[in-house]
Amino acid sequence: MTNAAPTNGKIFLVGLGPGDVVHMTARARQAIAESDTVIGYSTYIKLVKDLLDDKEVIRKGMTEELDRCYEALERARQGKTVALVSSGDSGVYGMAGPTFEVLFESGWKPGEDVDVEVVPGSSAINACAALVGAPLTHDACTISLSDLLTPWPVIARRLEAAAKADFVLALYNPKSGRRTGQIVEAQRLLLLHRSPDTPVALVKSAYRRRQHIELTRLERMADSDIGMLTTVIVGNSNTFVRDGLMVTPRGYANKYSMADSGLVVKDGEQSGRSLSMGLIGWRALAAAWLAEDEKRTLLDAASRFDMPFAEILAAVSLHGEESGCSWQASAVDVEDFTKAFNWARSWNRLRVIVRSEAGSVVELLLTDPDFQFKGNWLNLISDSAHLHVPWNKVMSIWVVAHHGTVQGLYCCDARGGRLLNMQPIAATIAFDPVATAHLFRFSAIQCETEQEEASADVD
Ligand code: SAH
Repeated sequence: MTNAAPTNGKIFLVGLGPGDVVHMTARARQAIAESDTVIGYSTYIKLVKDLLDDKEVIRKGMTEELDRCYEALERARQGKTVALVSSGDSGVYGMAGPTFEVLFESGWKPGEDVDVEVVPGSSAINACAALVGAPLTHDACTISLSDLLTPWPVIARRLEAAAKADFVLALYNPKSGRRTGQIVEAQRLLLLHRSPDTPVALVKSAYRRRQHIELTRLERMADSDIGMLTTVIVGNSNTFVRDGLMVTPRGYANKYSMADSGLVVKDGEQSGRSLSMGLIGWRALAAAWLAEDEKRTLLDAASRFDMPFAEILAAVSLHGEESGCSWQASAVDVEDFTKAFNWARSWNRLRVIVRSEAGSVVELLLTDPDFQFKGNWLNLISDSAHLHVPWNKVMSIWVVAHHGTVQGLYCCDARGGRLLNMQPIAATIAFDPVATAHLFRFSAIQCETEQEEASADVD
């Protein structure tokens, strides 16, 4: 800037916490004390009235956010210190983002005429969680249901993704006088992936005069009194309520514990350590789980561990033998696909199953089919059918066997889902790893042998 002030001005972006002075940080109070001007919504300015003395105070309504940023910048450029206050944390749906945007737009660079300090505060997610117990002890996310500045499809996608991924959710801006349908729609989307019994906490005006707390369940959530000052906390699949406290366990250990699954590790098999459900260990556990009961199928394992089919195949491929599992799987190098299909063709009569993204399943019995690769398509042609499979979607090919007999050839997509599989109907094909290895190059599946430090993530 050409006419920069001789002394640097400063903007404090201050988070005041949920609404009670005792939950405001010492740095927040210090920042306000150091400021010439305090700008913010009047409810929050009231919280620091003992510090205002002879300061300039600019009270603004909810809708004038950008004006507040411009005013802060103008004064800071005159060499003044300005505190822009937000409730909770200034960076969580607060003033920090818009202020930086206005600053950058005006040509500002860090370290130049105006200094900026973000003073963190306890956000509603933290404050509300503290009032109901310990619902955030596992992975959590915040989603604002306000569709004033965000298109609803974006919000809906995030709600569904968070529900599916089993995050604990804190819903901000759940409902207002005019926006009443969003919380109902959010509930519907969450119920697509979560149990109706999932614990939900509705915390209104945390640490303020009209504080109100209600514990309910996902299927009842939208029936309760929810407003602008409510934060909705939705638990994950392990969250429980006991004696009025909502608690999310630190891990998922119980869900997959050896005792729970009835798994017994044989002596000497896993010397000195138990099987872990971590990135490295879970595959061994999945293979051991399959080995434990003859009747368990690969699909059972995919559903039990809630993992894609190809991940279960990888688990069997890496750990099936050591765990005594009756299933076998080997990943065929995708470059050998023509060989793989010619091999399948040699079975003469095949059951071919193709799954579409929309969920429909086509099952055909084919005799000596012709396979033709054309561009991105694999065409399966017989007297009775023409089937076109998007070949570019195939990311892995597997030979799968049970008790040494080939069950079929499985082609999986990038997510590890089953796209196409072919099974011999009439012939019994022995799965001889050595002979099959002559037929194909098997691709290496990544496997790290080092065990995680079991205690590394305990605070
Ligand atoms: N910067 C704030 C959030 C502003 S968005 C923060 O970090 O907390 C406004 C939303 O925050 C409200 O709709 C409500 O969902 C939540 N909220 C803010 N203060 C709250 C309080 N004291 N009790 C409950 N929810 C609160």
